[in-house]
Amino acid sequence: MSFSEEAQSDVPLLSEKHSGIPGYLLEKARKAKVGVFETRTKPKASRNRLPVIPHGIDEQVFSDALGELGKQLGEENVERNDKPLRDGWYMEHPNTHDLMAVVDDEELVPSAIVYPGSTEEVQQIVLWANKYKIPINPISMGRNLGYGGAAPRVRGAVLVDLGRRMNKVLEISPEDYTCLLEPGVSFFALYEAIKEKGYDHLWVDVPDVGGGSVIGNTVDRGVGYTPYGDHWACHAGLEVVLPTGEVIRTGMGALPGNNTWQTFPYGFGPYSDGIFSQSNFGIVTKMGMTLMPNPGGYESFCYTFQKEEDLHQLIEIIRPLRIGNILENVAQLRHVTQSIAVSGRPRTDFYKGSDTIPSEVVHAVAATGPMGDYTWAYYGMSYGPPHIRQYKLSIVDAEFKKVAGARRIDPSTLPADEYFWARDRVAAGVPELQELRWVNWMPNGAHIAFSPVSPIRGSDATRLYDLAKKRHEEFGVDLFPAFCVGLREMHLIVELVYDRADPERRKAVLDCLRHLVDDAAALGYGEYRTHLVLMDQVAGTYNWNDGALMKFHEKLKDALDPNGIMAPGRCGIWPKKYRNRGWEMTKDSGENTQGDGVAPS
Ligand code: ADP
Repeated sequence: MSFSEEAQSDVPLLSEKHSGIPGYLLEKARKAKVGVFETRTKPKASRNRLPVIPHGIDEQVFSDALGELGKQLGEENVERNDKPLRDGWYMEHPNTHDLMAVVDDEELVPSAIVYPGSTEEVQQIVLWANKYKIPINPISMGRNLGYGGAAPRVRGAVLVDLGRRMNKVLEISPEDYTCLLEPGVSFFALYEAIKEKGYDHLWVDVPDVGGGSVIGNTVDRGVGYTPYGDHWACHAGLEVVLPTGEVIRTGMGALPGNNTWQTFPYGFGPYSDGIFSQSNFGIVTKMGMTLMPNPGGYESFCYTFQKEEDLHQLIEIIRPLRIGNILENVAQLRHVTQSIAVSGRPRTDFYKGSDTIPSEVVHAVAATGPMGDYTWAYYGMSYGPPHIRQYKLSIVDAEFKKVAGARRIDPSTLPADEYFWARDRVAAGVPELQELRWVNWMPNGAHIAFSPVSPIRGSDATRLYDLAKKRHEEFGVDLFPAFCVGLREMHLIVELVYDRADPERRKAVLDCLRHLVDDAAALGYGEYRTHLVLMDQVAGTYNWNDGALMKFHEKLKDALDPNGIMAPGRCGIWPKKYRNRGWEMTKDSGENTQGDGVAPS
């Protein structure tokens, strides 16, 4: 497909493709696509580094092995990754590489992609990988953009794209408020399935953009914005294919004939689910998820705060309200620069300098918007019938207004396309697409996140904000911070947006991040999640007691995956055959993604 054909082709619908858009968002998706392709100057990549073969395997043996797998799965379900890399965009994302590559496009690429249709076929793939000692890398949807997308950490691994053929909502229980899903079910799809059944009493919690899979997001410990925002905490029961091919069901799923797999997550004995999130210990083929009861009413609210320095006082006010559940959802405190960018307009509409956008420019632009000028905006939601909301909202109002200059925004004054309404829908469990629009801030826009966890304290918020600001200035990156406030901690999510066609900007962003991770760790803050290229560095910051936790992970890895085939290097966990061969990417390694081969079998 040519560039212009790609730009002009229509966005696939959910009814046509498991990764498609629901009908109600089609117009919005079309508009977003136009915005993306308008700012794209990146030439279509030709392939310079072919063929891609997994480390430690002969090319002919690999070809024959793929042929053998094709006979088992059907030839159409085994593909070589040898065509030009097509970036697409969020709704038409590639499974051949990281669409938002922060290193060269051809670095983190799989050699082939396979599409299992059942748990049994996943087992066959795993047994095949062990037979030939070929690394495999599971994805559910591959839309983990900003964290590596569909890319494997090890170049040449075979990508197991579970979502294409395993995408059924297996069960929705309207009595228990639970569901059981396959890997290819997106938040869009789950929402639509519930609506289709007419279960108005069930809500889904959704992340900022609803195109990711529920399983992929949950195992990577992503968050959403209703009271059920901690997805990992809300899951119940896994089916997992282990790296040696056995299938297990966790929790009550281990009891034959049980009827509580999705209602009691623990079962009996050690709670093993944890080792299957942010790890490389298995492939999740089914997952149970709890659903929120419709609270019988809801009301979004937004307050703005004028000064950067208000952050300290505001976070101190938020903490007891959040822990006391007066602030009920994973709300966001966003900086005005990102709110301007979320309009989807490129930065050059506002500022042409190559330094960071000056604060006066940002405030002058903000002043012309429907919310007026401000520095911080708090987007929250109150749930329940009117009299219950009234009680909570009056407390919030009195507390927030203690900050001089705080303003409550009257939603009725905001136009329908204002970002507030996208936050309103997300906090009401309605999947959205708006959030990704700030990526257009730069041509060929891509993003990668700095996401440290801290207590909900003014001093921590200020320290992290100051640190991020200093490094962003140093590397010439505009600062897009948002605090996502959980029950007893908050994630600061700073999205670094860059032109991915510009190697210098890619490097600047990555250098900036490497400093940020170390700076934060030196102050006692760790990342909650990270991009593939930062996983070694981040894992290295969790090094209490001479790296005792990583030693434990390595012990588990060696026991569960003796051939080291499952997603080597994911989350910094390297199997024995890769260890001490320079695979780790750190500040000192010079962004070398590949080590010195693997130990002979
Ligand atoms: P999304 O569904 O949000 O697009 P991905 O499918 O890209 O997310 O998943 C994010 C990451 O989580 C993957 O790179 C992979 O490491 C891990 N992952 C996703 N799905 C599974 C799964 N079914 N089993 C094991 N790990 C998975």
